[in-house]
Amino acid sequence: MKKKLVFIMLILVLIISLFACKDKMDQKNSHIDYNITITGQNNVYTVEQSTTIKNVYKDDLDHLIFNLYANAYREDAENKAYTAKLTSYGQIDIESVSVDGQNCKYELEQDNSILNVAIPALAINKSICVVMAYQVTLPECNIRMGVSGDCTKLANFYPQLAVYENDSFRCDVYTTIGDPFYSNTANYEVTITAPQDSVIASSGVLQKSTETPDGIENKYIAKDIRDFVIVIDKNLLVEKGNIGDTEVLYYYYEDQDPQATLKYALDAMSIFNDKYGAYPYPTLSIVMTDFESAGMEYGCLVYVALDTMNIEDTIVHEIAHQWWYGIVGSDSINHAFLDEGLACFSTLYYYKQIYGQEKFDDSLKAISDSYTLYERIQKMRKTEEDLSINRSIYDLTQYQYEMLAYRKSTMMFAHLMQTMGEAKFNKALSNYVKNNRYKIANANALISELNKAYGSDIGGLVKGWLGNGARVTMMSN
Ligand SMILES: [Zn+2]
Repeated sequence: MKKKLVFIMLILVLIISLFACKDKMDQKNSHIDYNITITGQNNVYTVEQSTTIKNVYKDDLDHLIFNLYANAYREDAENKAYTAKLTSYGQIDIESVSVDGQNCKYELEQDNSILNVAIPALAINKSICVVMAYQVTLPECNIRMGVSGDCTKLANFYPQLAVYENDSFRCDVYTTIGDPFYSNTANYEVTITAPQDSVIASSGVLQKSTETPDGIENKYIAKDIRDFVIVIDKNLLVEKGNIGDTEVLYYYYEDQDPQATLKYALDAMSIFNDKYGAYPYPTLSIVMTDFESAGMEYGCLVYVALDTMNIEDTIVHEIAHQWWYGIVGSDSINHAFLDEGLACFSTLYYYKQIYGQEKFDDSLKAISDSYTLYERIQKMRKTEEDLSINRSIYDLTQYQYEMLAYRKSTMMFAHLMQTMGEAKFNKALSNYVKNNRYKIANANALISELNKAYGSDIGGLVKGWLGNGARVTMMSN
């Protein structure tokens, strides 16, 4: 009898734990799990990657598409990640791919930028595990991925599952205009072995650090982020602070007052948490680095260029991307204003909160003057250039991209705040975050939140700004 009772109890415990497990799995926000192990140093890394994907797309899915961004650093790449000659070039060499333990067919397509993996027909809501072995060669350069001096930047180095939309996987090519990335959120478990004296900044939270004969082996995890990046440099120093449950880490080489620089980040976090919704991740790293642009956003980590013209502006802009690109994803290839415009506008909003209305007005005037001049030049020269904000980065020069995705769209958001009032505008943005958290949003999702918060239709104003019309006088209307 006693034995039987124990047996029944055991069965009950098993049933309860199964339900607990199911509950936990159902609570997952992301349907992709990457497990990546990296060894090597300097320029060459050997990587093993298992990617578990739940088919949330369609019944009988028969292939998967992974982006191989690292191949844009090849010397012979058609769609290059660089505009000038590099000291040395980079690439990714896929050595093996298997699916659920079986060898499978795979092909490199579209100038080696896409890995197409054939899979046995996969029913909807079923999962599949793709295991790959590959070698990544880092270029010597100060672009997103590469080695410069003692610093190693591992960004976009791994095969990343493409976004599935309109019944197929998106196959976008690399370009040096804007940010040619588009991704779902995913969960990451990343292990890297690096030289003993390394300082390592990453998108994840350190779980375990072990000394091995080959160096230090660190294991990180991260949940629901859009990409994973690692920066290694033995010379980095770190200053730490906290906002809510988030540890903010500022990595730098030289700074007369690192506390003051960190404060820009803490203030920005605090304002955006309050107005747009709480940052949901345990860490955020701000990493000073030799970088060709002012900065770059990644999951829970941002680059800030050592030679940025305005460190405060860059830190705040890149942190704003944690909301506009990170928490709420968007198509930065075809609708860059959704992340760049909102990141620029949020930086102005930070100025308003920290320094007052005058600083907001002055910063907006500088942006609007520069855009207005651009628009006037187009008119004067009768270029008939399409002035729509919502243009693909493939159709733009870097100058046009900056004018439309950054400046004109910042003017639009400022005009919306002016028209709706600050409280309603912020309510719209916080609802946009709440209702699109870990998803991919589009302009309609944003317009819908603006309309709801405003209490009447403001879509016409947004569409007017997004469209081709000249906007020079609109702000004063
Ligand atoms: Zn940006």
